[in-house]
Amino acid sequence: MSASSSQPYNPFRVAQQQLDEAARLLQLDAAVHELLRWPMRELHVTLPVRMDDGTVRIFQGFRVQYNDARGPCKGGIRYHSEETVDTVRALAAWMTWKTAVMDLPLGGGKGGIICDPKQLSPGELERLSRAYIRQVGRILGAEADVPAPDVYTTPQIMAWMVDEFSYQRGYTEFGMITGKPLALGGSAGRGDATARGGMYCLREAAKAHQVDLRGATTAIQGYGNAGSFAHKLGAELLGLKVVAVSDSRGGIYNPDGLDYEAVLAHKQRTGSVVNFPGAQPVSNAELLELDVQVLIPAALENAIHQENCERIKARFIAELANGPTTPEADAVLFAKKAVVLPDFLCNAGGVTVSYFEMVQNAYGYYWDEDEVHQRLDQRMTGAFWKVHEVARQHGVDYRKAAYLVAVSRVAEAVRLRGWA
Ligand code: GLU
Repeated sequence: MSASSSQPYNPFRVAQQQLDEAARLLQLDAAVHELLRWPMRELHVTLPVRMDDGTVRIFQGFRVQYNDARGPCKGGIRYHSEETVDTVRALAAWMTWKTAVMDLPLGGGKGGIICDPKQLSPGELERLSRAYIRQVGRILGAEADVPAPDVYTTPQIMAWMVDEFSYQRGYTEFGMITGKPLALGGSAGRGDATARGGMYCLREAAKAHQVDLRGATTAIQGYGNAGSFAHKLGAELLGLKVVAVSDSRGGIYNPDGLDYEAVLAHKQRTGSVVNFPGAQPVSNAELLELDVQVLIPAALENAIHQENCERIKARFIAELANGPTTPEADAVLFAKKAVVLPDFLCNAGGVTVSYFEMVQNAYGYYWDEDEVHQRLDQRMTGAFWKVHEVARQHGVDYRKAAYLVAVSRVAEAVRLRGWA
């Protein structure tokens, strides 16, 4: 994504800047603040992988354990050609705030491999995933650090990873990773949990602002796990009218609305939402600026930045991506009275159901889907209203309020443990 200011965009700098602002508002102790600005540990690995043509290719990967004061590190693994250690650091920091704002007994971590998964065969993908665990497995475990799916990683990849890890340990430890297939200790309701949690959060925000979202025009950037399920559940749970969606190849727009089943079938057939019959093409940049009531960034970081934020028209912005809005854009959107539901609150449904998966793995006793939905709703609703109350008290936007809640919880754990 494009740089948004004179300095090149660096997500870790953004994450630190957001923390610095929260630390200032909280008058956080200097040592605690400095500790929270950095990952506690990170492991950089080099992964030799046998390709289908017999050659060996070398990949680079990372696992960042940002902070585990409140419990085991938790966070996904991304496969992306533009992955950098600073991106993984930022995402690991955001996971720390995410688990804290949801009051889950977990810390934050993140992993990544620099690769283009679209260019890898299933066999190559399996060998790459196993190679990652061969290197990183030594610092993982249900009590230490628990990965999950993220951009371009899937339940099948989680299955290979738990299998490889179990060879290392000599027994099967399902709780070492979440987002697994149901047959391997996965949780009901994990598949659509990120989008579902986001829709619960948006529903509560609409109540708080006394807005009826039925029929509200909606644009969704990104059509992976989060974006595609937001299309489905936005319509199903809230009655949103989704008029535009996009993926990495481009977007489509139809002011009369886009049918989820039809768009999904088209994407499954052609590999993309583009060229969907009866819709106009829009670019990813244009989609963000459409005259819609709800905007759901569900792709990558740095989508809404200094250059385009003035032109964003949506009243509600539900961030299902991690880090889609820069601090400069946040200030402009707040001044425009847009309601931004910040990533680490709005997309926390995924990690919340991951936590439920860990609990079920530990007990060896599994819940049905209704129970998962009900518990997720309770958590999301509770977290939203807590953040809403703090935002009102301090006269700040929801992101700052969410930071105040999360950072004070992590800081308390850090102090109690005697770290600073
Ligand atoms: N990758 C998801 C996130 O960014 C889920 C993480 C998890 O389930 O641990 O929140």
